[in-house]
Amino acid sequence: MIGLGYISSAEFKKPKQLKIVAVSEWRPYSYVDEKGRLKGVLIDYWNSWGNVSNVEVVFDVKDSWTAGLNALKKGEGDVFVGLFYNDDRNEYMDFSSPIIELMTGIYVRDSVDAFDIKDLKDIGVGVTKSNYAREYMEKNYPEVNLYIYDNLDSVMEAADSGVIDAVCIDYHNNFREISFYYPELKNFNLLQTLYTQPLRAGVQKGEKELLEFINERMNRMSPSQKSDIYSNWEYVAIYFTKDKLQKTIMGICVAVILILFVNTLFLRKRIEAGVKRLADSEESYKKLVQLCPDGIFVQKNGKIAYINNAALDIIGHTSYSSIKGRRISDFIRPSSRNSMESKIKAIRELDSAVLTIEEKLIRKSGNFVDVEMSVSPMTYKGSPSELIMIRDVSQRNEREQEKQRVLREKLRYERLKTEFFANISHELRTPLNILLGAIQLMDRDFSKNGADWSQCKYYSRYSKLLTQNCYRLIRLVNNLIDTTKIDLGFLNMNFKNRNIVQVVEDITMSVVGYIKEKGINIIFDTDVEEKIISCDADNIERVMLNLLSNSIKFTPSGGGIFVNVYDRGESVQVSVRDTGIGIPEEEQPYIFERFRQVHPLLNRKSEGSGIGLSLVKSIVEAHNGNISLKSKEGEGSEFIIEMPAVGSGEEDISFAEGVSDIHEKVEKINIEFSDIYSHAE
Ligand code: ADP
Repeated sequence: MIGLGYISSAEFKKPKQLKIVAVSEWRPYSYVDEKGRLKGVLIDYWNSWGNVSNVEVVFDVKDSWTAGLNALKKGEGDVFVGLFYNDDRNEYMDFSSPIIELMTGIYVRDSVDAFDIKDLKDIGVGVTKSNYAREYMEKNYPEVNLYIYDNLDSVMEAADSGVIDAVCIDYHNNFREISFYYPELKNFNLLQTLYTQPLRAGVQKGEKELLEFINERMNRMSPSQKSDIYSNWEYVAIYFTKDKLQKTIMGICVAVILILFVNTLFLRKRIEAGVKRLADSEESYKKLVQLCPDGIFVQKNGKIAYINNAALDIIGHTSYSSIKGRRISDFIRPSSRNSMESKIKAIRELDSAVLTIEEKLIRKSGNFVDVEMSVSPMTYKGSPSELIMIRDVSQRNEREQEKQRVLREKLRYERLKTEFFANISHELRTPLNILLGAIQLMDRDFSKNGADWSQCKYYSRYSKLLTQNCYRLIRLVNNLIDTTKIDLGFLNMNFKNRNIVQVVEDITMSVVGYIKEKGINIIFDTDVEEKIISCDADNIERVMLNLLSNSIKFTPSGGGIFVNVYDRGESVQVSVRDTGIGIPEEEQPYIFERFRQVHPLLNRKSEGSGIGLSLVKSIVEAHNGNISLKSKEGEGSEFIIEMPAVGSGEEDISFAEGVSDIHEKVEKINIEFSDIYSHAE
């Protein structure tokens, strides 16, 4: 627009053309690239401004800032492309509204050990003569060794050749790395930002209308238009030149392809290994199933689809081909086939049930074989199927049957033995009673006829011996008979309501004579006069005689026997205590067992069969009672019987009469005490 005469302030005409002074070395704001093209953020900006303003923009490119500023000073151009305000420049130019924020900072070579500007004292810091940074540094950091150059190219040359190790340079944070524009600064890093200032356009001093026009058209540029310009130069977008971008994309593609290829190779290997492992494990499973000792069938769509060796063995076949196409129920005995079919159907429908049954399978030979069979649903080769497992239990069943048979046989034999025992005992008792009766008759005869005792001085002694041993045998036989009765469950009780206190007292009193004769003291005591309970008095008497005879047997002369009855309200307790030799603690738990004898026969002064206490226990238990023992070796024993105090409602006549048959009682005592007297004789 030079020479168009619009400079007259009176009448400002919109210029058709504007000459912008640009510089060739100010990357990335205004520079000439390697192909000689003028480029830069500010160049784009002014082109855009020209479009908006409908003004042709031409650039006058100077190869340094100094040359550029001089050109403007001389009026060789209308506008300086962009610069910071400073007082110096303000002397000869005016400044437009801000175009873009720009920073100026110090970039330092990597190898320099600097953390602060002050650390740069000993190194050369390059700056261009006309850059405001020179002024700024001189003012603020006079100690820094500034190397001042005419233009940026010279600064770069100095940096490249190692003359300087730091440079003051303008930069913009969002624009690409400094080394992209200045390869000489490849190993330089930003040490510190000196200041941030807006870049403005510069016009010749006094060109107010032009400045207003520039500013006004600047305002017409939309924010997006401006940001488009900047974003073109922003880091990411401009980092790559088209060529470089293409190369990089290619590189990435190659890398991705390579990675994919390696991955695919790796994956393939893994898949191959996986498939092999799968195949191996499938093979192992197959083998396992094939060799499983239990029979396995798989039935698919109602047909046997698989059978293992064990199953073939059980049904007596040798290969799958001979059973191919058949159903599992074909091998089940005909009477169970239908029910088996419906069970399998139900399982298939429920899809979770496992059925275990015992069945008979038909072997190829036609024989039956007992199997335990479990059926459960499964998926076989993608189809719903049934898994049937069978186990040959014929041997187990045979063993079980044999065991049952032996047991039955044993029980039968035991019963026979017991019955024989019962019979023989009865058979023994009859001749014994006859013998005893005969002896007693002979005795009576002798007494009645006034026999000459001097003539038969041994008669009395032998007769007593005979009688005594008859009693012993009768006791033994009686006990044996009762024992067998208990075993056969025939111990009949004759329960009647009786005053238990009286029953116990009477039987105790009736043996006082015998006991005293042995030099043993006996005391009966009760805390109640009458306690009616339902009991079998005869058997209670046997229990008492048994306990008393034991006490006598195992209590030395001078000792004592205490019989007590205690009323415990709902029960009654009868205790027989002695001060005898006692029972060792380790023997006490077994004392009521049949045939158990604690004290060795050889050391004893009495006889016994070891049946007494077991019988006592059975009789007490038949009364719903229990018997217990407290004993201390060398101090004595106490047998405590506890029976429930319940009446049956049935009165006992003998109780009403008060006294039982005296003769019978004496006989009973003779029998129960027969062991005691055997040695006394
Ligand atoms: P036996 O016919 O041998 O007396 P019992 O069953 O009546 O059989 O008694 C079993 C054993 O218990 C006796 O042989 C004896 O060793 C021991 N015994 C029973 N009562 C007493 C007691 N009062 N004092 C010491 N030992 C006893």
